[in-house]
Amino acid sequence: MKKYDVIVIGAGPAGGACASQCAKSGLKVAMLEDFGFGGTCSLRGCDPKKILAEAAGVVAQAQGLMGKGLENCPTINWEDLARFRDSFLRGKKEKSQKAYQDLGIDTYNGQAQFVDQYQVKAGSDKLESKYFVLATGIKPVSLDIPGEENISSSDDFLALDRLPKRICFIGGGFISFEFASIAARAGAQVCIVHRSDRVLRQFDHELSAKLAQALADAGVDIHLNRPLISVTRDKGNLMVKAGKNDHELIINADMVVHGAGRVPNVDKLNLNMTGISVSSRGVEVDKYLQCKGNSRFFAVGDVADTPFALTPTGDMEGRTAAANIIKPQSMACEHTGTPRVVYTAPPLCAVGLLEEEARKANTKIRIIHEDIAGWFSWANAGQKFAECKIIIDEDNDLIAGAHILGMGADEMANLFAMAIRLRLSVNKLRDVLWAYPTKGYYFRYMLG
Ligand SMILES: Cc1cc2nc3c(=O)[nH]c(=O)nc-3n(C[C@H](O)[C@H](O)[C@H](O)COP(=O)(O)OP(=O)(O)OC[C@H]3O[C@@H](n4cnc5c(N)ncnc54)[C@H](O)[C@@H]3O)c2cc1C
Repeated sequence: MKKYDVIVIGAGPAGGACASQCAKSGLKVAMLEDFGFGGTCSLRGCDPKKILAEAAGVVAQAQGLMGKGLENCPTINWEDLARFRDSFLRGKKEKSQKAYQDLGIDTYNGQAQFVDQYQVKAGSDKLESKYFVLATGIKPVSLDIPGEENISSSDDFLALDRLPKRICFIGGGFISFEFASIAARAGAQVCIVHRSDRVLRQFDHELSAKLAQALADAGVDIHLNRPLISVTRDKGNLMVKAGKNDHELIINADMVVHGAGRVPNVDKLNLNMTGISVSSRGVEVDKYLQCKGNSRFFAVGDVADTPFALTPTGDMEGRTAAANIIKPQSMACEHTGTPRVVYTAPPLCAVGLLEEEARKANTKIRIIHEDIAGWFSWANAGQKFAECKIIIDEDNDLIAGAHILGMGADEMANLFAMAIRLRLSVNKLRDVLWAYPTKGYYFRYMLG
């Protein structure tokens, strides 16, 4: 039986950040991982997705300038793109595992399962620890429909070596939107089937609706208010049935992809002896990320019931938990100004509060809501879809929320994230000099 100060389960950005900080401070640390060191983001999430999205973005940008000086729009050679994607993934798990070992961390490959509240086993190894950190991420929710086995995962889409001709994405969240944007620009016939009339719930609803128009303009069919009924297979053809009562829709596809929500990845851990509680939103934690019900446990990243499931927040939560392991209750978790981006073409971002959240807060707000497609930095790129909504907290002269749809919104998200997190006043921000003609230059005009 090996004994540790800290055992971290899950080697994604959250677990990795926590384990590294603990090891650097001299604690004896072990990490357990059952898929690959690096986790979802680098192996089957953000990074492979962005490689595909980058090519799709170039096609979309070229499309914007067709007939305005450009001819012969580029096309995507998916097999080449897949090879380029793979060149980033090759050896990544091993490199990442080695980097943890170089910090003095013991690494174990295998599925972790608790034996009791002090011991965990991974394969044939049994380990004991003073503290446990749960960083096991989230996984696709079961859709519980006939033919669920015919639905592919986001991992399958990101690993495609050949692009199917007809792809149907289930769910109107960021994964479906981003993948639909990629597949449509790569030449597939694409649709999204969503159960309600509101897509992208964590983003501004008006800008999300505009993004849906932009994707429709790129050839994506978006079917709203169509709950999924079944997915049946007849040889190579998949038949998706969705809708209610007499409003049934039938879609034929070569691939159907799950983009319909994710749940905490805890069912294999055997947590029932540990005393901690888990809801559908994640492992319940206090502001120090210590688990309710057992103070020897921490939860970080996507698996924790914290506001966002993103790489930067996972990393921040991992570092926060480490600080609280090293010195109890020394650092509270702070999510103010978290930037969220949908990497479609055009991208959509949200930073800080949504309009409905800001309206509930007890301060006077002012909203600057503009169609910015005609502003020079979007017009000169031939962009048809660009809009911003900035929410100002007038009582405190601060930006409460920033929402931008349009080319460059992903990078502008960082400017707003800095302004919101560092509580830079609107008055001070007006004094900044911005490079012209960049998209960032329009930051000050977005403040009204
Ligand atoms: C398709 C896709 C695209 C995304 N794009 C973005 C993006 O552009 N930007 C962004 O910020 N975020 C993005 N995300 C989200 C981002 O990947 C996650 O927020 C981030 O990876 C969370 O880190 P984590 O450490 O909490 O969990 P993960 O990275 O999911 O790591 C958890 C690890 O725990 C392991 N594990 C689970 N159970 C066990 C067990 N019992 N024993 C041992 N190991 C276990 C898993 O195999 C996994 O490797 C995307 C996610 C997906 C799926």
